[in-house]
Amino acid sequence: MTKRAEILRAVSEAATVFADSPSGARTSFDIIGAVAARNIPLLFRPLDKLWGAFITVNDEERGIIVTTKLGLPVQRFTLAHELGHLLLGHQTSLDKTIGFAGRNAPTSRPPQEAAADTFASELLAPKRLLRASAKRHGWTRDKLHQPGNIYQLSLRLGISYQAACWALVTSDVLTRQQADRLQATSVKDLKRALAPTGSITNSWADVWALTEADSETFLEAGSDDLFAVRVQDHASAGYVWRLVDANAETEIVDERAPDLDHAYGARSGRVVYVRFRAPGVHQLVFEHIRPWNRAVLARIEIDIDGHGKERDGWARRTKCEVLEQVA
Ligand SMILES: [Zn+2]
Repeated sequence: MTKRAEILRAVSEAATVFADSPSGARTSFDIIGAVAARNIPLLFRPLDKLWGAFITVNDEERGIIVTTKLGLPVQRFTLAHELGHLLLGHQTSLDKTIGFAGRNAPTSRPPQEAAADTFASELLAPKRLLRASAKRHGWTRDKLHQPGNIYQLSLRLGISYQAACWALVTSDVLTRQQADRLQATSVKDLKRALAPTGSITNSWADVWALTEADSETFLEAGSDDLFAVRVQDHASAGYVWRLVDANAETEIVDERAPDLDHAYGARSGRVVYVRFRAPGVHQLVFEHIRPWNRAVLARIEIDIDGHGKERDGWARRTKCEVLEQVA
């Protein structure tokens, strides 16, 4: 099979898997769910030399291993890559790294690896998911040339910033040259631009710029991630945005008023920095209320899975299901 045919097969296989999977309010593809639905053995291990592996024994026993040493977006992309090897009928593959460029990979990339990369990119960042986030946030083509917006897109898709740059090439938003230039942007600097000094407690942690547009979505985040929630108080009418702390696990880390306008009647913008004290599935709720009579003008409600990356053993969800069965 030619490399081109192998890539096209990967594109088509990814589209089939995507179409078979329920999405709901998730902004990212549920890769763990897709692997579990196919009863594919999956283990996470502290592998030092490999990002992941697809292992097949006599074409009968097949399984996937992914390292616990990398962050959630890279774990997700690696898992999708290994699922690609499996569904495309490849032989055992021990992957020291994975390519984020998918079908835009350099020609030196072996055909089966380029195909698995393509499968991963098409499954986790298909045009449909990309468009859904772009529409929700008003990210026009021009805005998707800005590193800050590409970073926020990558968080919502659950892929790395680099992988998002290349997915935008596949979707004809960026050229290869633009992606090459943009992917060199320091993600650390993008995070720092969003967060007050000292508020990022762990170098893996991401900073989500959330707005009302994120309402009613389900986000998959890291356990130390910081959520910068931008709200606009309708202060002249007596309304302020307040965090509704349903479970006391939500902590306000800081609050800034970057574009406070003191002119009479003007709406004032604020950014509230929030973090969760414990890992888990959380609901982040803000209400735009009149404090004295509790009249509610608007509400922001975002579901966040804050477990972060997978730890040693089975996928967290599989562990929970097994526990439920034996309980
Ligand atoms: Zn591979």
